[in-house]
Amino acid sequence: MAVPYFRLEITEAERAAVNRVLSSGWLTTGAECLAFEKEFADAIGGGVEAIAVNSNTSGMHLALEAIGLGPGDEVIVPALTFTATAEVVRYLGAEPRLVDVDPVTLCIDPALAAKAITPKTKAIMPVHFAGHAADMDAISALAQDHGLAIVEDAAHSFPSTCGGRNIGTLGSAAAVFSFYANKTITTGEGGMIVTRDPAIAKRCRVMRLHGIDRDAFQRFSGNSAQWRYDVIAPGFKYNLPDMAAALGREQLKTAEINRARREAVAERYARAFQNLPVVLPALPTPDIHSWHLYILTLPPACGVARESLEQAFNARKIGYSMHYTPLHRLTYWRARFALRDEDFPMASAHGDTALSLPIFAAMRDEEVNEVIGAVTALFKVNADGRQA
Ligand SMILES: *Cc1c(COP(=O)(O)O)cnc(C)c1O
Repeated sequence: MAVPYFRLEITEAERAAVNRVLSSGWLTTGAECLAFEKEFADAIGGGVEAIAVNSNTSGMHLALEAIGLGPGDEVIVPALTFTATAEVVRYLGAEPRLVDVDPVTLCIDPALAAKAITPKTKAIMPVHFAGHAADMDAISALAQDHGLAIVEDAAHSFPSTCGGRNIGTLGSAAAVFSFYANKTITTGEGGMIVTRDPAIAKRCRVMRLHGIDRDAFQRFSGNSAQWRYDVIAPGFKYNLPDMAAALGREQLKTAEINRARREAVAERYARAFQNLPVVLPALPTPDIHSWHLYILTLPPACGVARESLEQAFNARKIGYSMHYTPLHRLTYWRARFALRDEDFPMASAHGDTALSLPIFAAMRDEEVNEVIGAVTALFKVNADGRQA
């Protein structure tokens, strides 16, 4: 039986919500977006403000712009992440300083982050990898000691908790979620900036739409006619259309059911693989793991090469992926900073041995069985000394 890496099943309620927007005649940012922001902020809790944007990437760009990042500044970024986390730093003319990850959580190693701080360091961008929260106590302490802003790449972490608190409520300058097509909730393309800092929220809202500030104009002129506005900076075009927001509002309603379904898949994998010589994802218990990704690691000593697992999956038409090729192995980052594998032993080892298994809310029991069967068969064959 073929098993896709990811499958989205759109519900009737979701179709109806998008159709409602199509019928309304108002497709771009409007009432749906406003409602989505309020409902997302409520879901996160802690009195945060939420600012809807057209991607996590654009949201991180806005958050870094709002903290005043610019040329000459440095931002600490984990080597193991999607390139977007580092690329937004370059958008503003600043430089990412890549740091190795903790081998257990796959999140940035706070001790190594401390060593990477220079007088130019302005911010740190933890990634809650796969849905396991980074060590935010240590990162917050570091930020406090050195006067750094924290902008969390929360692309994987809706919903995840850290010390019992939702990601997004931990007091960072901003946490930015992704609603890309295969994320835990989706709007096709989309993202959400979450912050408790009113100045950052205001700046992100203005820069999200061309730097247009209606409040500034109204203060200046006392005239509130709809067409009047002022521009206070060369902003961006990062707003979320209402069609996407309507889908997001429905996705929010089923987010907890879907998280529980992914958790059930993760638990089945964990039980099935517990006696294999593989490394399973760390559990943040009692904290909540979003289970955006389920990463299996095949250490050299386990006797099965990752390529053998890929071949077995290919033979059975089981989808898989790899998160991620560490940034120091990608041409642009490697060349820009003359990086070597030895500089990032943990991220490099991960890059050589990890594979992401299918995990999604709509996954059927037979599909989970099929993946489990493919993995366990490979180890049985190898234990018998026969060729895979
Ligand atoms: C998906 C992802 C992004 C980018 O999200 P977009 O919404 O596509 O911009 C950034 N960082 C990480 C870790 C991601 O997984």
